Amino acid sequence: MARRKKLYEGKAKILYEGPEPGTLVQYFKDEATAYNAEKRATIEGKGVLNNRLSEFFMSGLNAIGVPTHFIRRLNMREQLVRQVEIIPLEVVVRNIAAGSMSKRLGIDEGTQLPRPIVEFYYKDDSLGDPLVTEEHIIAFGWASQQELDDMISLALRVNDFLSGVMLAARIRLVDFKIEIGRIWENDYPRLVVADEISPDSCRLWDIETGQKLDKDVFRRDLGNLADAYSEVARRLGVLPAANVRTSKPKLIN
Ligand code: UDP
Repeated sequence: MARRKKLYEGKAKILYEGPEPGTLVQYFKDEATAYNAEKRATIEGKGVLNNRLSEFFMSGLNAIGVPTHFIRRLNMREQLVRQVEIIPLEVVVRNIAAGSMSKRLGIDEGTQLPRPIVEFYYKDDSLGDPLVTEEHIIAFGWASQQELDDMISLALRVNDFLSGVMLAARIRLVDFKIEIGRIWENDYPRLVVADEISPDSCRLWDIETGQKLDKDVFRRDLGNLADAYSEVARRLGVLPAANVRTSKPKLIN
């Protein structure tokens, strides 16, 4: 089969032209990066796990009426998605203080927040994705006031859904990042959750032990990342109890 046209290659995914207009194929790579790509590695099996986990979360959201770009999974590493116009913001929801918020505000990691907090970061690697306010978003035209309100309510609905799903798997949803895109329908923009939802973009802590089951395992050198992601997939019933095969099959002589 002729290879599809590559439209974009990011740190963890590649986007190809889809089979029909308005669709894309999203390919999940095994590359992991952190600290604005200063730290990088190839984690065998990560792409397969994130493809399955993102399918699980996005199709769950679609099923409860939270619109996403996800159409269907195509194979181990690829999914068919709707083409959207990405809003250049990372939308972060936090339930528990951790990471950059703990550092910025001097709040101990693990402190329960009084309510979920939605933050926006401007997507620009050369600036290190700076935190921005709603005023910046409106003044610079990254989104309209209506879209801003819609982004907050989408983000909070995703938070409620993901928190519940994780709780059932005895996992605490500390925080997560989503990206949101516009789909134009009769000249009106409609917002949908885009990109991916996976342990690459969430903080997930075991409820009993506090063990980290997300990309902090890689960022902070806490163990094998694919094992942590397999554990999340196993608990959610996304993969059979046996670990996903993350290494290449061995030839038997
Ligand atoms: N996050 C992400 N991509 C980014 C920055 C953050 O997916 O470029 C996620 C991160 O995994 C965490 C949440 O957003 O779940 C909040 O991240 P934070 O601002 O604490 O930044 P970090 O400590 O990851 O630098």
